[in-house]
Amino acid sequence: MEIAWHKIIGHTRAIARLRTLLREGRLPHALLFSGPEGVGKLRVARALAASLLCLGEGELPCGRCASCRALRAEDGAHPDFLELHPEGKAVQTIRIDAIRQMQTTAARRPTLSRRRVVIIDDAQCMNEAAENGLLKTLEEPSGAVTFILVTSAKTALLDTIISRCMTVGFGMLPEAQLAAALEARGISAQDAARLASLSDGSFSRALALEADDGLMLRDDALAFLRERACFTPARVFERGAAMGEWPRERLSEWFLCFHTLLRDLLVLYGNGASPLLYHKDLRQALAALLSEYSEQRVFALVALTEEAQHRLLSNVNTRLLVEGFFLRCMEQ
Ligand SMILES: [Zn+2]
Repeated sequence: MEIAWHKIIGHTRAIARLRTLLREGRLPHALLFSGPEGVGKLRVARALAASLLCLGEGELPCGRCASCRALRAEDGAHPDFLELHPEGKAVQTIRIDAIRQMQTTAARRPTLSRRRVVIIDDAQCMNEAAENGLLKTLEEPSGAVTFILVTSAKTALLDTIISRCMTVGFGMLPEAQLAAALEARGISAQDAARLASLSDGSFSRALALEADDGLMLRDDALAFLRERACFTPARVFERGAAMGEWPRERLSEWFLCFHTLLRDLLVLYGNGASPLLYHKDLRQALAALLSEYSEQRVFALVALTEEAQHRLLSNVNTRLLVEGFFLRCMEQ
């Protein structure tokens, strides 16, 4: 796994604070990394873990010692490092068994490094039993273990857990930083800027959008806004047949794009809560649509979109859902 600090995008203040505490030996035994999804909290947790486990000197992690090598290996297997993730398909949970197993390992003396580090990713997925189990360990800290809980939903955790950890807050990544990081991955400057503006400051969301042709979906949603007035039932069924074949996630992404385009139309009407456009690069294209889209019509379409998004969560036939959605949009 990746352990180098310099490979992390953004979060300079949080990282500086952690590294200072580390250098001064004041890092508490339990930390809670809290912030939006996909901004790199786990990456920071891993770099910190590697620094705590490193056997080298100077700037940690050194990247060369036996501990660093073990962590950097493909499987990331290190005898004193443990990373827990939620399990399960429908509902993702971290169960008490996983916590107990972790506790057994964590209670042993470290074998390679001077301490053990346990990362609990998506800590909000712990069920109550698991949380109470973990609480016992946090209440009776052993000197040789550091816990790093990572969460995008801090309020879902027990207050007693939160109060035993030092919280480190993570914000969204600034758009420019995100765009630069995307460009560094070989994405064109234009696409990088568009992806960055669409991904709510989340690097993983930007990558997912790129992988899922998120820009293509957005263009497609915009095309529908433009064509809606001259849509025919034949066109509806053609679209329904095509989009009915899409995986639900992709369909959900399309509705999300459509929703944000509508939201931007409302912003242009001066109705949005935020004066900022979600699709800044489409300002002109959206402004050109205002003559066709009255506020009332946009509100009606927003309601239809939200209903479709909601129904998509159930076991609905997606082709029928899409067809019904387009037909009702035409009526507006
Ligand atoms: Zn090292």
